[in-house]
Parts: sequence; structure tokens; C-alpha cells
Amino acid sequence: MVITIDGPAASGKSTVSRELANRLGWQWVSTGAFYRGLGYAALRLKMDISDVKALTELAHSSEWRVVMGANRTQVFFQNEEVTDDIGREDVGNIASKISHYPEVRKALLEAQRNCSAGPQGLVAEGRDCGTVVFPQAEAKIYLTASSEHRAARRAAELGLDQGETQEAQKQRDKQDSTRKAAPLQVPENAFVVDTTDMGLDEVVNKVESFVRTKLN
Ligand code: C5P
Repeated sequence: MVITIDGPAASGKSTVSRELANRLGWQWVSTGAFYRGLGYAALRLKMDISDVKALTELAHSSEWRVVMGANRTQVFFQNEEVTDDIGREDVGNIASKISHYPEVRKALLEAQRNCSAGPQGLVAEGRDCGTVVFPQAEAKIYLTASSEHRAARRAAELGLDQGETQEAQKQRDKQDSTRKAAPLQVPENAFVVDTTDMGLDEVVNKVESFVRTKLN
């Protein structure tokens, strides 16, 4: 069983989906970790990030890997944990750039789908979880929030300037929603929640109620 939560950068997807998984006793994965991990590995290996063939090969290599955890989706590069590093906004931007290539998306798809192979259910968050990765999901959610609010949230989290963060996010959201391959969009039949004026508990309660109606 799978529940998907999609939405733009810093819309609260990670926090909400992780808490939801915790309440349900299910596994959780942030699919952005696959794009961030691949982008980070390419950066460390000083690869040309427009070389799609090399990126696709790297996607399948054992140079890096993603490991699901209850609190963090971990990324390892050459067996060293780099989860903190992949959270940087510059890595997010590289992830967004390489995620444009259909070949790269395809190369990462199977590993994302494998996350649902365990005996428990899975809560997966990202950009195309409800549309492409798990189109058969039991429940689909789309979280959004105002651009100012999302920038303020991410800036506070990473100790960055809010104006610069907002500009970087706008650019990333534009790239993610206008790309041809699996653009960010509201999945059909998704439950849409605007989290701008809501606290975390309120959002999770709302999402949980929706999910429970779908699971019953
Ligand atoms: O969600 P997160 O900020 O970690 O994602 C980083 C980038 O990875 C996004 O900006 C997007 O370009 C890409 N991504 C994607 N599809 C997903 C998850 C992330 O294209 N399912």
C-alpha cells in the first residue's frame, strides 16, 4: 500500500509525510534524495551534468545509494554518509537540473518503486510520486503554500537569507513545473492542502483523516 505526497520545494512534504508514516507505522521515503544523491555524486566525481549517458550509468552504479529510515532518507557516497550535504540548496538545484532528463528519471524509477517492496505500507513524497512513480497509490496528496511562506520556512531551517532562498526556490519550481518529463503537477483525485496558514499538527491531522477514509 502506498500514499503519495507531492508538492513544490519547502511545502512541508517531508515533515508531513514523515509524521504521517510514523502515525500509520509505515515506511517513509523522500524521493528527492534519489535526484539529490545522483546530483551530489556527479558533483563529487566532477562530472559534466549535461552528459546524460554518464549520469544514467552513475544512476545504476554502486558509487552511491539511498537508504530509507524513519527520520531521514539517507544518502551514501562511496560508503560515506552525505545526507547533510545533499540538503544544500546548491545540490537541490543540480538535482532539479538533472531531473529534466527522461533517461535519468527512468534510471531512478525502479529504485524508487522498490521502496514499496517491504511488508509495511509506504508514504512517498516528491514531485511525481502520485503521477508517475506510484500512479496506483491508495491515496494521493498535494501540499502547497505561498512562495513567501515556503522561502521563510527553508531559510529558517538552513540559516539562509530569505530573499535569496525565495529566488532560488522560484527558479527550481519553474524548472520542475515546466519540464517535459514528469513535471510537478497535481495528480488526478489528489487531496490538495494549502499549508500557508496552518501549523504542522493541523496539516498532519487533516491529511491523516483523508488517508484513513481512503484506507477504510
Ligand atoms: O524534494 P527535494 O527538494 O529534495 O527534490 C530535489 C529536486 O529533485 C527537485 O527540485 C526536483 O527537481 C527533483 N525531484 C523530482 N522528482 C521527484 C523528487 C524530486 O524531479 N519525485
